[in-house]
Amino acid sequence: MSKKELGLNTICTHVGEVKDEQFKGAVSPMYLSSSYEFLDVDVVRYPRYFNTPNQAHLTQKIAVLEHTEAALIFASGMAAISTMFLAFLKQGDHLVVQNTLYGGTVNFIKEEFPKYGIEYTFTNGYSVDDFKKAIQKNTKLIHIETPSNPLMTITDIKAIAKLGKSKGILTSIDNTFASPVNQKPMDLGIDMVMHSATKYFGGHSDICAGAVASSEEHIKRIFNVGKNLGGNLSDMTVWMLERSMKTLGLRVKAQTKNAMKLAKWLDKHPKVAKVYYPGLNSHPEHQLAKSQMIGYGAMLSFELIAGLDSIQFQKQLKLIKSSMSLAGVESTMLSPYLTSHSLLTQEERDSIGITDQLIRFSVGIENTKDLKKDINQAIEALG
Ligand SMILES: *Cc1c(COP(=O)(O)O)cnc(C)c1O
Repeated sequence: MSKKELGLNTICTHVGEVKDEQFKGAVSPMYLSSSYEFLDVDVVRYPRYFNTPNQAHLTQKIAVLEHTEAALIFASGMAAISTMFLAFLKQGDHLVVQNTLYGGTVNFIKEEFPKYGIEYTFTNGYSVDDFKKAIQKNTKLIHIETPSNPLMTITDIKAIAKLGKSKGILTSIDNTFASPVNQKPMDLGIDMVMHSATKYFGGHSDICAGAVASSEEHIKRIFNVGKNLGGNLSDMTVWMLERSMKTLGLRVKAQTKNAMKLAKWLDKHPKVAKVYYPGLNSHPEHQLAKSQMIGYGAMLSFELIAGLDSIQFQKQLKLIKSSMSLAGVESTMLSPYLTSHSLLTQEERDSIGITDQLIRFSVGIENTKDLKKDINQAIEALG
């Protein structure tokens, strides 16, 4: 049976298992050796070479989920993205990158690229034209993020892939928010897909990891830089990640269903001024999201009406936790103005829609009736 023909949950459960030949146990054994035989072997294994049994097997699950030939697992999402960037950009090269981007990625570009002599341009917006305008003679890579944080804007993946191909420029995407359950960018022509596996892949807020998926050729190039930078994930955590990913499909489907219900409910809520969710008809790129996503994801943002203090509201929540990260089975909320966008001025924030009233909601697997009740009691407690 071809792995590509398997259903989502079968892939999540079985692809990339390490067979326990010795004891016939049901789950993958964990191989913690940092030293392997070098005589008469096809490959010399070493953790920093990304090729220990647990690492090498789990990449198969990620590659099959992302419809790519190969993948690599890293110690964090930032290890994945920085290694990917440095594999394809050298001194004198130029990167075109979406303006609304994960803060850590922005910091990496702004703080590290000058040291390497790599040039970059942040787009003015997220339309294809904005990307086109930013391209220079020496542009080697276009990097996008969709849905983006925290307003869930949608970038046209197919159009960006086409733009890249027409100019001989590689394209990459941060697919963390959608996860391969809700979006398969390789099918839309993108060259490389990266993930913060800390989020949906891990899914229980207890793992920090990252991944890149692409063709054998590109992954080989990323590996060549990765072995020098040394951002591999410990095999103990690789094993935990494999266990977590068995329920990736189940979790993300449930979370996505919950997010749709809650987005619709919040949209009608008298104390909510605005909801940002690609699944709503009112979302400016709803049709685009519909055309390129399998599901609309489990991340949304909303604004409380003026006069309701968004911080006091979060303090009153009893089930939903205020939390910096996202994508766990538990629902969490945060204020972008105090976290991802805290370094901008009030004017800058207001101009891009990151108001003090805005709350980002990572929807979990709880029963929506309990989440609604929690939100309502927190609003009522504000008086
Ligand atoms: C968290 C995150 C990252 C960075 O991942 P780490 O695992 O924290 O290094 C990158 N992109 C997005 C969209 C994220 O949410």
